[in-house]
Amino acid sequence: MSDRRLAIFGGDKAVTEPNPDIFKWPIVTQEDEAAVLDVIRSGSMSDTAVTAEFEKEFAAWMGRTFAVAYCNGTESLRSAMWACGVGAGDEVICPSITYWASCTQALTLGAAVNFADVDADTLCIDPSDIEHRIGPRTKAIMVVHVYGRPCDMDPIMAVAEKHNVKVIEDVSHAHGALYKGRMVGSIGHVAAMSLMSGKSFAIGEAGIMVTNDPEVHKRCVAYGFYERTGNPSLGRVTPGDIDIGDVQSFAGIPLGGYKHRLNQTCSAMGRVQLKYYPERVAEIDRAMNRFWDLLEGVPGIKSTRPARDSGTTMGGWYCSAGLYRPQEIGGLPIARFCEAVAAEGMSTLSPGVNFPLHLHPIFHVADIFGQGAPTMVAFGQRDVRQGPGTLPVAESIPERAYFVPWFKQDCPETIAQYAAAFRKVAESADQLLEREPAGVG
Ligand SMILES: *Cc1c(COP(=O)(O)O)cnc(C)c1O
Repeated sequence: MSDRRLAIFGGDKAVTEPNPDIFKWPIVTQEDEAAVLDVIRSGSMSDTAVTAEFEKEFAAWMGRTFAVAYCNGTESLRSAMWACGVGAGDEVICPSITYWASCTQALTLGAAVNFADVDADTLCIDPSDIEHRIGPRTKAIMVVHVYGRPCDMDPIMAVAEKHNVKVIEDVSHAHGALYKGRMVGSIGHVAAMSLMSGKSFAIGEAGIMVTNDPEVHKRCVAYGFYERTGNPSLGRVTPGDIDIGDVQSFAGIPLGGYKHRLNQTCSAMGRVQLKYYPERVAEIDRAMNRFWDLLEGVPGIKSTRPARDSGTTMGGWYCSAGLYRPQEIGGLPIARFCEAVAAEGMSTLSPGVNFPLHLHPIFHVADIFGQGAPTMVAFGQRDVRQGPGTLPVAESIPERAYFVPWFKQDCPETIAQYAAAFRKVAESADQLLEREPAGVG
């Protein structure tokens, strides 16, 4: 008979061989090293030939006409917003549960962020909480395929088209994921994403924008790539000589005042990583589905993964989240649940995922431009600031989700041990509940 006593109370641990190697990422081989060394030895870190190849290959993989590589994901998203016409006094709709870099850049463009609630089962933007937020100054809807789970894009695109608003996909969590058979990042008007070291497509500090729209492409280049717009447009400073609506009138100096060029050591690694990405992601997909298959039907625990036959997939399962349903296990607080699972032999397990952004003071009182008024309203926007209680699902997420182990190798014995840790705690919640209130007062 196995010991059902929880490890937190001195029982045997469920995870006896944690096998840290299967969490290692990214996978770097001599091919990556040789490609990066080539760039360093030729002194071409700031050149663009390798980057141009990487962009061409990435665009082809995504099924898009254009790709532009960036020094990081934050800048690719800022530039995508500007290219979609986001400016002073405008609004961008964004889900409240995401990393800050999905939307904080809007403030530096003088725009406000109108946060939407999220879906309790997918953690992605709730498609039914978008349309009523669209106003005369709404320029873009930022959707985030959060923690690898593709957003429900069909209703989102329908609302956007009806109101003539652009959809920007933040693909930082979901490179290679499919929505109903289509690659995420190829569905909205433009997509931008991080490729930094912690992400599932990991090549250093890097980002990339993809689109089919030649105007968006031209504007992104004009905004932050002075070296790609031609020779400086000198001697054309008389009004009437230039067309200020044509971004190419400003050749040689970036319109954003930004320098967005990617270090070519990253582009070189990116080209190698791209070659192997589909097969490596397929392995992650097998491993993570194995983990969740073992937890199917366990009370208190649920995955955000889509149905197997839906054509929707989780890409590299970046920071995969587990949903917590305390009502199914006697109301056990999430912190106690996580503590008990961690004690079963995991290094850590913390409650919560990204915190709800709409409650952060930057979106309420920050005065970035020194105007004596919060930037969220300083450019004459409607006041779309939202305090506690306004986005109930997003505000419940710290109590309703946590990050699960992110397996990079499909190792059945190890994965079974980790799944057993979650199952054991969920099925023995009564042990924790019995002792929970003891000793106080
Ligand atoms: C990581 C991340 C970004 C920012 O990318 P950087 O490369 O770190 O600048 C943007 N959006 C989301 C959702 C992210 O997770």
